[in-house]
Amino acid sequence: MTPVNTPEFILFDLDETLYPSSNGLMNLIRDRIVEYMVVRLGWSRDEAEERRQRYVREYGVTLDGLHKLHGVDVGDYMDYVHAVPHSEYIEPNPALDRMLGRLRPSKAIFTNASQSHARRVLSALGVSTSHFECIFDFEAAGFCPKPDPEAYRRILARLGVRGDQCVLVEDNLRNLATAKSVFGMTTVLVKKCGHGAECRPDTMRTAATRADTPTWAGATAPNTPMQSEPTHADLVIDDILQLEQALGED
Ligand SMILES: [Mg+2]
Repeated sequence: MTPVNTPEFILFDLDETLYPSSNGLMNLIRDRIVEYMVVRLGWSRDEAEERRQRYVREYGVTLDGLHKLHGVDVGDYMDYVHAVPHSEYIEPNPALDRMLGRLRPSKAIFTNASQSHARRVLSALGVSTSHFECIFDFEAAGFCPKPDPEAYRRILARLGVRGDQCVLVEDNLRNLATAKSVFGMTTVLVKKCGHGAECRPDTMRTAATRADTPTWAGATAPNTPMQSEPTHADLVIDDILQLEQALGED
């Protein structure tokens, strides 16, 4: 598939897409998720960790399993797991703010996390919320997380666009798979490294790589079930700052 050069919309995942996974913020949040289950639901740490992994596999995010099976309050969970010092982990990225200002298509945040977490991430990055038409979070999606197709239907309805008019930029292959196979979105995988932290210099010099080239083998696929299905990503980039070039916008 040839990626569209002038999409109507660019949908951005938030966590480990707009900032590098190497900063450790999501590891801290995963620890808070386990702690939440221990404190609020009385499970052992081992049981909580097993359920965290199982619910991610089966529901897309831990919260969806906890909400549906155990009646966990979404707001209470979101407040607890995101009570982290964002600015201690996320470095300001003025180049990202400038790039978003130059990208011509409309933009939206499409995240399984909460609105307040998204705003704190953007604030720590020094990225203006004014770049985005909306921050479409778990609540806006009707408590329906990516990769459930219903979440994508709801954001497309909210924005008034078709899937084939959108680019989805994500670090999660499962979420890209739904976007591409069900909605015909152009998909951009942001590899789980970034800002040079875990990438070889020769990889970092590759601005944008077609997913179907041999360089895919160097990508760190975040979701093991999808590792053998690289075609879900039309483009692979090492760093969010390479998006402009990847889309032919520079
Ligand atoms: Mg992510």
